[in-house]
Amino acid sequence: MLSEMLAKLKIPKQQRIFVNRTLNFEDIKVVGFDMDHTLALYKRETFEELAFVETLKKFIAAGYPQELAQLRFKHDFVIRGLLVDRARGNVLRVDAHKYVKDAYHGYRRLSKEERYQLYNQQSFPVEECLSIDTLFALSEVQLFVEIVEFMHQHPGAIAKSFQQVYDDIRLYIDLSHKDNSIKAKVLAHPERYLKKDKHLASSLLRQIDAGKSLFLLTNSTYAYTNQVMTWVFEGTNEGFSSWHDYWSYIITDAGKPNFFGGAAPFQGLDRSGQVVEVTVDQLQQGGIYQGGNAGLFETQSGFRGDEILYVGDHIYGDIIHPKGILNWRTMLIVEELEEELPKLAKLKLELSRIYEHIHQREELDEKLQRLRSKIGANFRQSEKAKTRGDHLKAEQLLGENAKLNEAFSGLRQELNTLDETIKILIDHRAKRVHPVWGELMKVGLEASRFAQQVNSYACIYSSRVSNLRYYSPFKKFLSYHENLPIDS
Ligand SMILES: [Mg+2]
Repeated sequence: MLSEMLAKLKIPKQQRIFVNRTLNFEDIKVVGFDMDHTLALYKRETFEELAFVETLKKFIAAGYPQELAQLRFKHDFVIRGLLVDRARGNVLRVDAHKYVKDAYHGYRRLSKEERYQLYNQQSFPVEECLSIDTLFALSEVQLFVEIVEFMHQHPGAIAKSFQQVYDDIRLYIDLSHKDNSIKAKVLAHPERYLKKDKHLASSLLRQIDAGKSLFLLTNSTYAYTNQVMTWVFEGTNEGFSSWHDYWSYIITDAGKPNFFGGAAPFQGLDRSGQVVEVTVDQLQQGGIYQGGNAGLFETQSGFRGDEILYVGDHIYGDIIHPKGILNWRTMLIVEELEEELPKLAKLKLELSRIYEHIHQREELDEKLQRLRSKIGANFRQSEKAKTRGDHLKAEQLLGENAKLNEAFSGLRQELNTLDETIKILIDHRAKRVHPVWGELMKVGLEASRFAQQVNSYACIYSSRVSNLRYYSPFKKFLSYHENLPIDS
């Protein structure tokens, strides 16, 4: 325990692995990895801007106003974890209880009353909204925000509903991915769009040396995967001459999430990407494949669901499905933690000030409650005194109450001021984490819907794959917070 605590002290918090559900690495025989935003980390600002610009071009070519060409990508507005109400053109921040805590229409913040009328009056069907649970979606939602803002500034300029606009954005962003207008630019200048992690290869080697098999499972095509992985591993390879050699199986074009419940066959490829086996009968160690399904993978690789750990960045596509359908263990990559946790660490003092004020508020509330009881008791006694004709006593009690009421108002005033201060402190702290939305994992001091999903679906989570290097490949990750509020 002590050695574990000491080890933890040495690992910077933003590089730790966090545990939701106890996971014993000793039981894990094979570790699978998604590629995009998991093994291959994108430089968010340039990559999202590229997707934004390419989609916008197609959008205007399809007949949307030419003025939209002036829109510029802003990287600091949309974050993962938000919901998009496509029907109303709003972007929402929701807590774990589906309560809408913040909402924007374009760049206009909705008032508390507007939020109440639209969402909080009755339980709001969160399912109707689109959830931003992958970094890939940031650019399309950012474009949506810009166009909603444009529609607000230029009424009538776009004769479509918000929902139709969103559907069009989806259509053109998909097209930009499919027709290679994004990929070709990434591959032409990978250094502009991709990050190199010098610890990636050695982190994977640690798992291999511990006797575990690795596989790659991505929705990207083999051609793209091959070029991206070549660049990512170039110069960082410690053990192998090619990125191919790390993997027992390479599965591309997998079509997740359907891969996890589907029945598509595997096709065998050679290293140049040519199909060499139209329907694979038996997966081979070191093989390259496209398509396929998880059931077939389990039977042919010989690994059981609970021996497989899958590492990905997409809550829905990489985490909910394998865990829900197949009982695979899961690790979620939450890249944002790398930036957010150091910011939160710097704001520790602010947090303790907030809790101090909350504590003061509780004490004040307690005082108010005692006064309230005293006033009530005095009043009842004075009524009784009146009934038995003791008017002097009644007068005396009511006189005392007048003084108590005055004290009560004073304290009530103090409480209101304190509430205001707490609100300002919480707001101020949140804005220093993210200028619009605050923390990714929390809204105010409570869990966000994103945090709730991370907690309920991912067994463990961390900011990047190479953080695995800090831990033994046989470590038992224990969940300490399976505790209930009654335990604390
Ligand atoms: Mg991914």
